[in-house]
Amino acid sequence: MTIARRIADSLEAASWIRKMFEEGTALKARHGADKVFDFTLGNPNVRPPDSFKKTLVEVARDPAIDHAYMPNAGYMGTRQAVAAQVAAEQNSPVTGDDIIMTCGAAGGLNVILKAVLNPGETVVVPTPFFVEYRFYIENHGGRMVTVPTGEGFDLDLAALSGAIDENTRAVLINSPNNPTGAVYSAETLTRLAAMLAEKAGRLGRNIYLITDEPYRDIVYDNITVPPIFDKYADSIVVTSYSKTLSLPGERIGFVAVNPAAACKKDLLPAMVFTNRVLGFVNAPALMQRVLARMPAERVNINEYAGKREKLCRILSDCGYDFVKPAGAFYLFPKAPLADDVAFVRQLQKELILAVPGSGFGGPGYFRLAFCVDDRTIENAAEGFKRAIDAVK
Ligand code: PLP
Repeated sequence: MTIARRIADSLEAASWIRKMFEEGTALKARHGADKVFDFTLGNPNVRPPDSFKKTLVEVARDPAIDHAYMPNAGYMGTRQAVAAQVAAEQNSPVTGDDIIMTCGAAGGLNVILKAVLNPGETVVVPTPFFVEYRFYIENHGGRMVTVPTGEGFDLDLAALSGAIDENTRAVLINSPNNPTGAVYSAETLTRLAAMLAEKAGRLGRNIYLITDEPYRDIVYDNITVPPIFDKYADSIVVTSYSKTLSLPGERIGFVAVNPAAACKKDLLPAMVFTNRVLGFVNAPALMQRVLARMPAERVNINEYAGKREKLCRILSDCGYDFVKPAGAFYLFPKAPLADDVAFVRQLQKELILAVPGSGFGGPGYFRLAFCVDDRTIENAAEGFKRAIDAVK
C-alpha cells in the first residue's frame, strides 16, 4: 500500500459520504444544478458584510504593512481586539495574551488537541457530532469516546459523567451545534462545569472543557450563547469567522484560553508551538489585519432566520418530526424510515440532497444545511412531501 494504513481506513470509512457527494454531482450534471436541491454543505451563502471588502481593500493599500514572519500566536493588535470581544462574551478578563490566532476552528482544534493529548487519552464527545472531530482527535494519538445526548439534543450529564475516567483528557462540546442546532443553556453548562470539577478533583487530573463555537453569533429568537469561562476554569474556546463572517475559504479563527486556568502558563506556549509545528506557522496575516479593524462585525443573521422559518414551515406541513434549531444553519429531522441512508436515497429520487445522520453518529436522522438560496428551499417543498408520503 502506498499510503498510510490509517488514512486508507479513514478514506474507506468515509467512502459512502463521498459516494453520495459524487451521486449528487452526477444528478446536477444530468438535470442541471438549478433542478437539484442541495442541502448537504455547510458553506455559508449569506454574503460577508460590506465592511469586510472595504476593510480588505484599505488594508491591502496600506503602505505600512509588511509580509514578514510574525509571532506564531499572531499579531498582538489582532489578539487584543479579539480579546476585548471574548472578554465581553465570556464575562471574563481575557487579554491578548490569552488568544492564539489560528487557521480556522479546524486549525484551532488541532492545535489544542496536539498540545494536550498523550497517546491513548480520550476526548469525550456528545453525539451527534461534527464529523471531523474523530479525525482531529486521532491525528494526535487520542481516542474519541462518544456519549448520547438527551431530550432535544441537550447534554446528558449522567452519560457524560459515566464516560469520564482516568484516561479522559478533555470533553469537547459544540454549541450552537452542527448538526442539531442545539444551544446549551447556562443551567446545562453550570451543571456540566460542576460535574467536571468534581470528576477532575476525584481523579486528581485536569479535564479540559473545549467548546467549539464557530456558530456563536448565528442564533435565533433573541437567545445568546452563555459564557463558559465564568463557570469552569480549565476551559478553552475555539472558534472562527468561517460562518459568522462567511469567510470559510480565508481560514481565520482563534483559540481563547480561560485566564482563570491554572494550566494556562504551560498551555499557551504549548499551543504556540503546536501552531508552528503543525505547519500552520501563523494564521493568515491579511485576515488578521482585517479583523483587527472590524472585530465585532457579523453577517446579517436575519437572512438565516428567514431561511430557518421557511424550511421549518415546509417540513412541518409535510409531517416531518424535528426540533427547531436554536442556532447554526442546520436542521436535523428524524428520518421517517429507521434506515436514514435509505431515506436520504428516497430524497435523492426527488433531487433533494441531504446527509444521513449516521455520518454524524446520529443514525435515524438526516441533516439539511439551510445556508442555501431561498428558492432552493421553496422549490424543494413538493419533493419533501412526496418523499415522506412514499415511505409512510
Ligand atoms: N466545528 C464545527 C462544529 C463546524 O461545523 C466546522 C465547519 O463546518 C468547523 C468546526 C470547522 O470550521 P473552520 O472552517 O473554522 O475550520
